[in-house]
Amino acid sequence: MMEKVQNLIRGNAVMVFSKSYCKFCKRVKEMFAMEKITYHAVELDMMGDEGLAIQNALAELTSQTTVPNVFMHGQHVGGCDATEKYYRDGTLAERAAGTYEKRDYDLVVIGGGSGGLAAVKEAASFGRKVAVCDFVNPTPKGTKWGLGGTCVNVGCIPKKLMHKSAIVGCDIKDSPHFGWETPEEVKHNWEKMAGEVKKHIMSLNFGYRSDLVLKKIKYYNAYATFLDKHKLKLVGRDNKVEEITADNILIAVGGRPNYPDIPGAKEYGITSDDIFYLRHSPGKTLVVGASYVALECAGFLAGFGFDVTVMVRSILLRGFDRQMADMIGSHMETHGVKFIRPAVPTKITEKCTGSPGELAVTYKFEDGREEEQTFNTVMFATGRSPCTKNIGLQEIGVNLNEKNGKIIGDKLERTNVPNIFAIGDVLDGTPELTPVAIQAGRFLARRLYGKSNEPMDYKMVPTTVFTPLEYGSVGYSEEDAIATYGADDIEVYHTHYQPLEYTLPERDENKSYGKLICLKSTGEKVIGFHVLGPNAGEITQGFALALKLGATKSDFDNLVGIHPTCAEVFTTMFITKSSGISVEKKSC
Ligand code: FAD
Ligand code: NDP
Repeated sequence: MMEKVQNLIRGNAVMVFSKSYCKFCKRVKEMFAMEKITYHAVELDMMGDEGLAIQNALAELTSQTTVPNVFMHGQHVGGCDATEKYYRDGTLAERAAGTYEKRDYDLVVIGGGSGGLAAVKEAASFGRKVAVCDFVNPTPKGTKWGLGGTCVNVGCIPKKLMHKSAIVGCDIKDSPHFGWETPEEVKHNWEKMAGEVKKHIMSLNFGYRSDLVLKKIKYYNAYATFLDKHKLKLVGRDNKVEEITADNILIAVGGRPNYPDIPGAKEYGITSDDIFYLRHSPGKTLVVGASYVALECAGFLAGFGFDVTVMVRSILLRGFDRQMADMIGSHMETHGVKFIRPAVPTKITEKCTGSPGELAVTYKFEDGREEEQTFNTVMFATGRSPCTKNIGLQEIGVNLNEKNGKIIGDKLERTNVPNIFAIGDVLDGTPELTPVAIQAGRFLARRLYGKSNEPMDYKMVPTTVFTPLEYGSVGYSEEDAIATYGADDIEVYHTHYQPLEYTLPERDENKSYGKLICLKSTGEKVIGFHVLGPNAGEITQGFALALKLGATKSDFDNLVGIHPTCAEVFTTMFITKSSGISVEKKSC
């Protein structure tokens, strides 16, 4: 019998000893089918005593007493778990074909940002041999930074700290109303703040590097380019070139800011990649663009007392709820931010050098009128492009969206090249947010190397725009809800509210606002949540869970509020938009 078993093993590239009713055997065959692998199976339960004898011989040969018992090219693989391990890590087809060669790493991640670091750490937690390559090309102004990607170095973290710094300024202005004897003139020191922010970022950079060492993850401070679908060329800081190979490669290279194609843009303009590292105060600033980055940066700069103008090509915050976007604009305007709209810059020239110098900006309105103004700093916040150029993706056949250069992936973040994956800002059709990149990275590693099958859920992702009055939202905008379900099926509950902290300084009346968008046909399920007011990010995070779990308007009504908070308005929101009743709060 042993000879018969050995002949079967030798005679078939992929041999499965199976039982026809066994669910693990079925799973193994399913995986082979999915990878288009030809195999030979014998069903031991259909062979009477001979089947029993084969099973005994297999036990003697492999010490494995169970089925499925899988062999490839004469080598014992094991059972369902062992086969699944290769299926998940993407090497099953190569192993079945006998072409598998041991590579340097199980997984190499290109990009040490939010998504890449999360993925590589999770993969390492499964005992896999992993590496991450991260390299920052300096901006045209020469700004560069350390490990951690956009969020930590030139995104969320410095932005939120500067946003906080502006809020502290507001609080100082309000403080006499709360009994503080604050000097009349309190000045903001840009250099001091930027220095403190930089110190914090550097401590995070250090933390990330030491965490990689601790977790035995190899870190290459090098720029990676594909040589083939398993091989990367790495060019380090000192131009040292290395080649490494991996079974799986994850692309998490994020994006970098765009510059408009106008004279002087790169020579004199800066972007969010520079603003947080400016050694001198920016002075009178023009921010070009009207989305997240533009409005957030304009907001904190104005909060520090700078003369700030936002140049808007079309609308504020495309894709967001229109009413909320317009309310943000009007709040910023009442707090001194100027808007030029609809207009685009056409030329920038230098009037005089300095720290900061003076720049003449020519711009054109939609109707063709041209004007010129002088600014100390021009910051472009005109969107971002993925870092997918010149890294060998076309050469190895990874499909990109031709319009935006992003990588096309399936629901499991796999590209059309099966061992190559993409997550974060570089993946087409997903929100460009840090927690999205992190979650996608973790889930991917769990699916590749753990036992999870769970895909990343890109629906109902909450977000907050950190403008002076923060705007948090999750789910549908009013326009999208109406376009999707029809106006007759939508009920909107809304209210203005006055945060208690604004009452003594008598500030910003009828600026804070909340609304719930409900779907009538599903018992008023809440499908959109919007809040404008202090700490909107904190408020939105909690309510996002309610929306994700399918909460209805009556669930919100039955919830007991926390008093006195801003968030409690969502438990007492009874006025519908359709009623036409005013939701403005009348003073006294
Ligand atoms: P990244 O963090 O961009 O990391 C990619 C890394 O890969 C970078 O370090 C890059 O240098 C490196 N790299 C690129 N190409 C290569 C290569 N070939 N070889 C080696 N390394 C390479 N999101 C929020 O959720 N909340 C916020 O408040 C928020 N604020 C933001 C504020 C600003 C100003 C900006 C610009 C973004 C903000 N975001 C915010 C978005 C958030 O920062 C991104 O969604 C997130 O950082 C994306 O992570 P990622 O891992 O996809 O890419
Ligand atoms: P967006 O792509 O969201 O917006 C780009 C803006 O620039 C739009 O207002 C666009 O106008 C305008 N624009 C584009 N090209 C030009 C041009 N040539 N001249 C003038 N205006 C132009 O980019 P952002 O950089 O603001 O944000 C990128 C992403 O980063 C966001 O989508 C977000 O996911 C993430 N982010 C998240 C934050 C958060 O969570 N708080 C904060 C900051 C960023 P138009 O509408 O006319 O096209």
